[in-house]
Amino acid sequence: MNCTGYRYYLERQRHDLALRMIRHGARTCTIRACTGLSEDRIRRLYKTFAAEHEALAARRRRGKSPRQTVFFTRSTRLQYESSLLAAVLTAFGLLSSAPPRPGRPWQAFSVGFAERFCDAYETHLQLVASSRISFEHAWFLLQLLHSDSGLALTRCRRCDTRYVRDATDPLHRACPTCKLQALPARRCAPERSPVPLRA
Ligand SMILES: [Zn+2]
Repeated sequence: MNCTGYRYYLERQRHDLALRMIRHGARTCTIRACTGLSEDRIRRLYKTFAAEHEALAARRRRGKSPRQTVFFTRSTRLQYESSLLAAVLTAFGLLSSAPPRPGRPWQAFSVGFAERFCDAYETHLQLVASSRISFEHAWFLLQLLHSDSGLALTRCRRCDTRYVRDATDPLHRACPTCKLQALPARRCAPERSPVPLRA
């Protein structure tokens, strides 16, 4: 591939990634961090797609990205879902690899890393019907687990699954899988039986 062809390939890759993130309702600042595209160009992409997909326009997130760590442990169901997402992020190698550009802040990513994150998030959506974790929250979870601040991945002593827990809580409470399994059957009825989180 010659130089011009390679530049076109990279440009196309960034453009396709931006569209993929727009479909998931990602914020402009997140798309910019992952693609390097200008805000103006991202806004134009939004407009083009919103004109064709009305539901997309309604889903567009504005303002700041999620900041509340407690979101992921707010309820047993959310803690379970966060733990499942963390297992998927691990399976895609997103937690074992350091941020893609050593020494750079979390605002700078390689397109390949962001594409892999999209793959992981889409896999999570396939595993969890009606997921309560948005694309932005999933992105925030990835950053929290990388920075080791506020949340930690711990192995349950009882069932041996890995789960997301509040790192500031000195009490090692039961993991969400154990909690869900201990619930009376009728309270679990709307949910599917918890899938073990061994990883
Ligand atoms: Zn357990």
